[in-house]
Amino acid sequence: MQVKQFVFNPFGVNAYVLSNDTGDSILIDPSASNERERSALAAYIKDAGLKVCRVLNTHLHLDHVLGNAFVERTFGVKAEAHEADTFLLDLQAEQGSMFGLPFDDPAPKLGGYLSDGDIVEVPGIRLRVIHVAGHSPGGLAFYCESTGSGDEDVPALFSGDILFAGSRGRSDLFGGDEDALVSGIKSKILTLPGNTVVLPGHGPFTTVADEKMWF
Ligand SMILES: [Zn+2]
Ligand SMILES: [Zn+2]
Repeated sequence: MQVKQFVFNPFGVNAYVLSNDTGDSILIDPSASNERERSALAAYIKDAGLKVCRVLNTHLHLDHVLGNAFVERTFGVKAEAHEADTFLLDLQAEQGSMFGLPFDDPAPKLGGYLSDGDIVEVPGIRLRVIHVAGHSPGGLAFYCESTGSGDEDVPALFSGDILFAGSRGRSDLFGGDEDALVSGIKSKILTLPGNTVVLPGHGPFTTVADEKMWF
């Protein structure tokens, strides 16, 4: 599996393009917010000859969904997310205007809901959906048990705003819950193999082993 990272929009969201050797790809939070970012994303996908099969949102805070309308228009694929976050889509246009960020109003509809334990799969890429509420009610992480072969076969976790290098998502936003966030991280994320590379929604990568010391 190849992973291409972009850092998009004024909030510095990590957007990821996962692809396999045959060109099937999964986008995670493709949150391009202006022409330059949208062109960079589209050019990468075109130059690599990728087909966008699935679009996943780790959660529906506005910084993570900024590219959904563009991606749907360009690649014909709707984003999927956890149902418990859908109320946030209704707040998008109003919140976006406070930051000078234009949103389609109403927001584009989701293509489907993802729940804890679901498997998102294209040939060569298999992600398990992990639901941890607390940063937002519908926060998701995507766990890839096998990313390659031989020495390169380390597990990976796309952790959204649940877990960052040296910190976790804030829980004081609408629908946040600190106890749920901490207990979810402990039971569902820190129990993954210690060598799992954590690719968060903002900031640098880390590992499960390195984050254990904070909990
Ligand atoms: Zn967030
Ligand atoms: Zn965020």
